[in-house]
Amino acid sequence: MEEKTAGQLLAENLSFELKTCWEHITREDATKIEQFADNYKKFIDKGKTEREFTAQCLEILERKGFIDIENLLLEEKRKEMAPGSKIYLNIKGKSVIFAVLGKKPLSAGVNIVGAHVDSPRIDLKTNPLYEDGGFALFDTHYYGGIKHYQWTTIPLAMHGVIFTKDGEKRDICIGENEDDPVFVITDLLPHLAQDQMQKKASEFFRGEDLDVLAGSKPYLDENVKEKVKLTILSILNERYGVTEEAFASAEIEFVPAVKARDIGLDRSLIGAYGHDDRSCAFTAFWAALDFAEGDAPEKTVVCYLSDKEEIGSMGNTGAESRQFENFIAFLCAQFACATSVYAPSSDIDTRVVLSKSAMLSADVNAAFDPSFADVWDKKTASYCGKGIVLSKYTGRGGKYGGSDASAEFCWKVQNILSKNGVQWQFGNLGKVDKGGGGTIAYRIANLGVDVLDCGIPVLSMHAPFEIISKVDLWTTYRGYLAFLKDC
Ligand code: MN
Ligand code: MN
Repeated sequence: MEEKTAGQLLAENLSFELKTCWEHITREDATKIEQFADNYKKFIDKGKTEREFTAQCLEILERKGFIDIENLLLEEKRKEMAPGSKIYLNIKGKSVIFAVLGKKPLSAGVNIVGAHVDSPRIDLKTNPLYEDGGFALFDTHYYGGIKHYQWTTIPLAMHGVIFTKDGEKRDICIGENEDDPVFVITDLLPHLAQDQMQKKASEFFRGEDLDVLAGSKPYLDENVKEKVKLTILSILNERYGVTEEAFASAEIEFVPAVKARDIGLDRSLIGAYGHDDRSCAFTAFWAALDFAEGDAPEKTVVCYLSDKEEIGSMGNTGAESRQFENFIAFLCAQFACATSVYAPSSDIDTRVVLSKSAMLSADVNAAFDPSFADVWDKKTASYCGKGIVLSKYTGRGGKYGGSDASAEFCWKVQNILSKNGVQWQFGNLGKVDKGGGGTIAYRIANLGVDVLDCGIPVLSMHAPFEIISKVDLWTTYRGYLAFLKDC
């Protein structure tokens, strides 16, 4: 090897340049990356809605011996609580928070990873079923920020819950098995699309026109007016025991009826519905779960998987709610917060714990896409394959509505990752004034917690089929693990 020049050495020392993680993956790591990716694909194929994802998490938490917070109202259960104890809060089956108690008192602060488990999708309207042109159709209202046209002419699956007349809740899942029927939103043939093609992309397929094809067979009775609609109602009634009025309360979501798949000849990428933000939810979940076995962690480890992020985090399952504070308040009340100058379980304990705590807001970042290079500043863009992304700040315009981590905290996280051999990269969402976005970070930061946005780079975000790199999935899991252990 030729000796390096002084300039080359200096450049190596002073510049921050990243190669793709693949360049320094050992054979052993490569096997782990594949296994982890396989588990992830199975998990998100089974968790295509916030309810389904949460249900899987709850099942695993139960299996690992976590205790439902409601059971702790029993005195004897409460007394058993000690470092290493594991508890969870089920938030209406759509969101979950869990913790592994640390050796240090809560007043030392807790380490949190928080992601969201809802993804953009097509929801049913409350009175959705109608008949036109010999078809039965479902009228819908899209959820989250989507490009409407991307959701047409792809197979869709129907997921959700609906109630029978007797008040029984029925789960619906049609379109995921090979022999299930699927659903579809039709689009206009190019031959007749002259006018449509002249319109702006935001207008040529309007949200109101996202109607899902439900069937076309008439119910054979001359005395019935809407025969096709009646066929669909009768099938739903047969299968689920529901009538049309049940749609008023039902939560039914149409999601892409596609399974997670490897992408590329080298199988380095994963294509799937809902990487935003279930790739971060999955990695956060398993990173936090690592502390459920063996020695208790130093600081208490908390994982927050929230709902409704894609529509502003509002409501009692979203991060804007007080559920997260309630959870910390509960920990304080139960486990004798060591800020003992205050009365036991006083409100101030909760606020002190929060202000000493640290969180990674685990959410995806927009990976640089060479096909649309001009919306990114290449210096601050995140890249598929280059590791976990740190976004010091979010927001749009002049950083409006964003969350901005302090230099101190950001530096601390950078260091923890580097010391643990976790490759991290910068990532801001596009060029200045090109758009922007947010996560649940600001909400938790408002409580006094140090929060940094930190997650996986994604291509085609919010499309029905998003793309991530396997090596980023793995690196992000290791990053969350390092943070929870060392922060
Ligand atoms: Mn997100
Ligand atoms: Mn999103």
